[in-house]
Amino acid sequence: MNILVCIKQVPDTTEIRIDPETNTLIREGVPAIVNTFDVFALEAAARIKDKNPDTNIVVVSMGPPNAVNALKECLAIAADKAYLISGRKFGGSDTLATSYILKNAVQKIEELEGYKFDVVFCGKQAIDGDTAQVGPELAEHLDYPQVTCALECEVNNGRLEVLKEGEDVNLLIGIKFPCVITFTKPGFDPRYASIKRKMAANRAEIPVLGDDAFPDIDTAMIGLKGSPTRVKKTFVPQRMKGGLIVDGETVKDSSLKLVQILSDKKVI
Ligand code: FAD
Repeated sequence: MNILVCIKQVPDTTEIRIDPETNTLIREGVPAIVNTFDVFALEAAARIKDKNPDTNIVVVSMGPPNAVNALKECLAIAADKAYLISGRKFGGSDTLATSYILKNAVQKIEELEGYKFDVVFCGKQAIDGDTAQVGPELAEHLDYPQVTCALECEVNNGRLEVLKEGEDVNLLIGIKFPCVITFTKPGFDPRYASIKRKMAANRAEIPVLGDDAFPDIDTAMIGLKGSPTRVKKTFVPQRMKGGLIVDGETVKDSSLKLVQILSDKKVI
């Protein structure tokens, strides 16, 4: 089994700050971590390797040069190899451009490694961008089937069996290789890095694939120019303060009081 896990380095905070001029995230001065959902994707790959020890786990990230730290963390946890995709022409990419670059990265890494990936794992969403678009878009670019919001998966009879989180019930889905799976939070904790793996990861040289590694990429589909998304405005939604408790003697009383209040406020 050959597994590629797409990971994104994200700010270690829930207090995301937005540059009011460019409407993009301010990343400077904020400590970075591996996106939480990507850690779940890596754990899913590691569990497959536990049962199939000849599995190769490769991690890839598109991001600034310091994203090697996130990749090293993945090497320390479970990955065998890591690649960073980092180039000037890639800057300013929205989700569609990012997923197109990642599709090219999948194919480039396959060429360099000399084998095809059976599966591409992603997190369900990045905790900063939060769009949950990159995984499904990557599947479309690759023309692979996909399952989103996976909790866990297992190789069975030459296909992948994926437990997918549903609204009311979970679904067990069989999917053929090659495919793309995006992961949400499972019912178990992901493993920690061992000291031995941490030391090896610190020493690891991570290949960086820049603009020149992709001579055939369609430059009209990458970077700010190749990004159809236009962010018109960003703002922090106002939190509702206070509230009103409507309590009558009976449910009927409460309902009538509520109707009166809404009517007075001209809501109904
Ligand atoms: P999601 O779709 O929520 O992520 C889902 C999963 O996809 C992740 O869990 C992960 O597995 C995978 N994934 C997502 N991103 C990556 C990645 N980079 N590498 C590997 N795997 C990944 N961001 C910048 O960093 N620099 C910019 O200059 C920039 N300019 C932008 C300009 C515009 C107009 C817009 C709209 C966005 C810009 N962004 C920029 C944000 C960028 O589009 C997103 O960070 C990126 O596309 C991922 O989207 P997301 O965070 O919503 O990921």
